[in-house]
Amino acid sequence: MKVAILDGYVDEPSCLGVPPYVAPYPRYIYGMLKCLKIEAEYVTIDLYRQSKEIQNKLSSFDLVVVIAGIAVPGKYLGGKPLSLKELYSLRFKKSVLVGPITLELTKKDRKNLEYLEYEIVDFPFEEKLFEYLIKFLKRDAKFSLDKFAILGSEVVKKHPEYPYLICEIESYRGCYWGKCSFCIERIHGEPEMRNPKAVLDEIESLYNTGIRHFRLGRQTDFLTYMADFSYDVPKPNAEFMKSFHREIWKRCPKIKVLHLDNINPKTIAEYPGESEKIIKTIVTHQTPGNVAAMGLESADERVIKQNNLAANVDEVRFAIESINKYGRFVGYNGLPYFLPGINFVIGLKGETKKTFEKNFEFLKEILDAGLLLRRINIRQVKIFENTPMHKFGYKNVNRHKKYFKSFKKRVREEIDKPMLKKLVPVGRKLVNLRCEVNDKRITYARQLATYPLLVGVIGKYEKNTFLDARVIDYGMRSIMAIEPLNINSAEPWQLEYLISKKLVAKVILNRPYKSIEDVKEVLKDNFQRVKDFIYV
Ligand code: SF4
Repeated sequence: MKVAILDGYVDEPSCLGVPPYVAPYPRYIYGMLKCLKIEAEYVTIDLYRQSKEIQNKLSSFDLVVVIAGIAVPGKYLGGKPLSLKELYSLRFKKSVLVGPITLELTKKDRKNLEYLEYEIVDFPFEEKLFEYLIKFLKRDAKFSLDKFAILGSEVVKKHPEYPYLICEIESYRGCYWGKCSFCIERIHGEPEMRNPKAVLDEIESLYNTGIRHFRLGRQTDFLTYMADFSYDVPKPNAEFMKSFHREIWKRCPKIKVLHLDNINPKTIAEYPGESEKIIKTIVTHQTPGNVAAMGLESADERVIKQNNLAANVDEVRFAIESINKYGRFVGYNGLPYFLPGINFVIGLKGETKKTFEKNFEFLKEILDAGLLLRRINIRQVKIFENTPMHKFGYKNVNRHKKYFKSFKKRVREEIDKPMLKKLVPVGRKLVNLRCEVNDKRITYARQLATYPLLVGVIGKYEKNTFLDARVIDYGMRSIMAIEPLNINSAEPWQLEYLISKKLVAKVILNRPYKSIEDVKEVLKDNFQRVKDFIYV
């Protein structure tokens, strides 16, 4: 039996699998197949698109498990997710479709896909998929996600981006709040914790395959992992969190990145003392450049009420202050240790023109108070069946297109840009930038991190070159940086990013320089401004 996993990538409120991220799903599925004594192929959708050979190979396989679904769409630099439209163009002998994509299939889609020999396994899929595999492969074994996680960890070696990957680690599923009108997390029901030992074993197993970057991200609220769920708002367990982090480092001492994804601001507002202790643990036991994505969704009380949103404006403001208090200090990679990020969802029930003004006022207040936000995510709601938003539909999305556009533009110009200037001032050195895509004279690079900052580095660098560069300028949500230039060999166009054309000509005429003092004589008053960007 020949079986392949085709990773079309996922993006959910609490799970990311677009490279450099690897979601838990392909690892679990690979582990399931290993448990059933099948050595599966693993192919990413980007690799599949590029290679005729792989396409031909997979078309002869007995079964292809396709993972896909973008529930919270974003912009991706590391890969292009598989869309429903593209799915129709894939041809295999027999395939199984899993992932959040199944939540957006209409009856017609389901019929058409079945006609194309797709078996659709609804989300969440793990147990149902395992049952299907047992029948299809005519084998037998017991279902154990923790066991599959360990067995499947070696699949990362088959990923084209290995070892420059961030493994998304699942600690629990579901959301204690679970009521927001638009959110698909309700599908997981009551929160279900993963045994911490199983989580630690999985991290260690991935570490042993060579993975050094981790995100404890596959949960809706990091603070409530192993919390006391007998309260309406679960009470965080600070002691447990400290020992959990210590154990990670004990087992995996050479981790380069340890980050998280989501925090529910309501937990911080409800339990400031316990949360403060965990925030300190995060600052001291995770790595700098860390971000807690928090959902405000709307700063309009009317929208908050009508959509059952978890936290109100005051609670979110308090959570932002709490994280800033301990997390805003700059770490060894050039970024603050730990900062909050804020999500807005546009098109919800009760939204009016005033909502956009309130949203903007909230952000302006945060900026004026000197608080730092690492990321402001503004997206239009994507509606799924079985959510209260389904009945309401895209009415407000369509009605408020104009307001959405201008709100976004205003936030990018008046909030994001000044915030970035505070976050990474000109001259700040950002270390370990991984070059990803190059476009003529600019190479786009990012640190391997949760919500990494996009950096346009001046110069043409090969993919996977790692470099340190200093900030020289700002885009709306990105920055420009430059690797210190050797004044004797830098190209004129590179120097023009630092000094005027006229001065570049003068610098070149006076080459070669024996010492930085010689450069100082030529650059005169400009020297002070550029001294950190050049060397002899
Ligand atoms: S708080 Fe609301 S938006 Fe966040 S995960 Fe829970 S239900 Fe979803």
